[in-house]
Amino acid sequence: MAAITMKNIVKQYGDGFPAVNDVSLDVQDGEFMILVGPSGCGKSTLLRMIVGLEDITSGEMRIGDKVVNQVAPRERNLSMVFQNYALYPHLTVFENIAFPLRLAKMSDDEVRRRVNETSELLELNEHLERKPANLSGGQRQRVAMGRAIVRQADAFLFDEPLSNLDAKLRGQMRTEISRLQRRLGVTTVYVTHDQTEAMTLGDRVAVLKRGLLQQVGSPRELYEQPANLFVAGFIGSPSMNFLPATVDGTFLDTPLGRFDMHDERKAAAVGDRNVVLVGIRPEDFEDASLVSEEKKAKGAVIRTTVDVTEWLGNELYAYVPYEAPAELAAKLRDLSQELDSDQLRTQAVVALDAASMIEAGLEAELWINTDKIHIFDPATGENLTRDEERVAELGRRATEVREAQRRAQATKAAAAEAGEE
Ligand code: ATP
Repeated sequence: MAAITMKNIVKQYGDGFPAVNDVSLDVQDGEFMILVGPSGCGKSTLLRMIVGLEDITSGEMRIGDKVVNQVAPRERNLSMVFQNYALYPHLTVFENIAFPLRLAKMSDDEVRRRVNETSELLELNEHLERKPANLSGGQRQRVAMGRAIVRQADAFLFDEPLSNLDAKLRGQMRTEISRLQRRLGVTTVYVTHDQTEAMTLGDRVAVLKRGLLQQVGSPRELYEQPANLFVAGFIGSPSMNFLPATVDGTFLDTPLGRFDMHDERKAAAVGDRNVVLVGIRPEDFEDASLVSEEKKAKGAVIRTTVDVTEWLGNELYAYVPYEAPAELAAKLRDLSQELDSDQLRTQAVVALDAASMIEAGLEAELWINTDKIHIFDPATGENLTRDEERVAELGRRATEVREAQRRAQATKAAAAEAGEE
């Protein structure tokens, strides 16, 4: 196992466009790091530079203590899982998994021992004699993972390994990968464009946009304290709503109504800006008729007309269109495009308790949890209300959890070993 350290990494392809632009990122030993961003943000290029399949234009790449800029891929001792699995169709599952061990000229006995151990871990024992063509998508995916983990690599690199699977299988494999990574404790870098994978798998997530690193943090940090509009819009589903607003002390004038944010710190952070974008997550709205008077007073109540409702059993989505000044509407459209999202941005999406009886076409009172709102500079996209103390606290907590998990895993492994002896 080894840490991976990237310092000011730049990749320029032939036309000079920086696909990866000055990225510095430390992946700690044993950490599960996700690289996420919309198509073309440079995440695959960065992964390919770690593994050595792409030259680095400038900057320094270290694996463990060693600078590897000039080291050939096969000397980096990394295992990669590709999106298309890249299995050998003429080889059995056994031989596909055994492939890196055969390359390393390992003895037959050792190969058999390791392949059996790996196939047991991945529940492939019954299929060892089959060819890849006779496996399901999920099984093929597992064989590809088996080939990656069968040898003792310093790190695993995954390039969108689940994107060829249907939604249900993707969910299942996500849990398996997560369990496997914790169990093996090997440094892992995982590329995806799917924010759900990013949020559920990673110890930390690095968000990229057009080759530039936007934010690196635990899933909780990205969700709760996004650095800018892009991260705020990318992380979370349905996405955060962005409402144009004018600021008047602690009051915000938005297309959904004027309300008090009850927060001097946030008001002060806005400074002398007059027009801002207010970010409210769908789940930070509630049907006001279901909120206690005490709670109501701590947030804000707005009266609006709901356009469409979707009752899903466990929650209710309501869509509330609003008017935005032309300039800000254009800004929101651009953001929508950058995020690869088809969400119409001049429409608030509201996620309410399933008990809500709000109906389309009728007036409704919505409560906003003003504690949770964010205020962004519309010119730079910066989150003006990010709480640095809270960010530090979340960072500390994430590190503590990781260490506790590692200790628990080590204890379990030691117990298993003692049991075997
Ligand atoms: P996707 O999810 O679509 O694979 P990505 O985030 O992984 O996207 P990359 O494949 O890393 O993005 O590409 C980053 C940028 O570099 C894109 O603008 C892409 O067009 C460009 N690019 C990638 N490979 C090359 C190449 N061989 N020559 C020139 N430009 C390239």
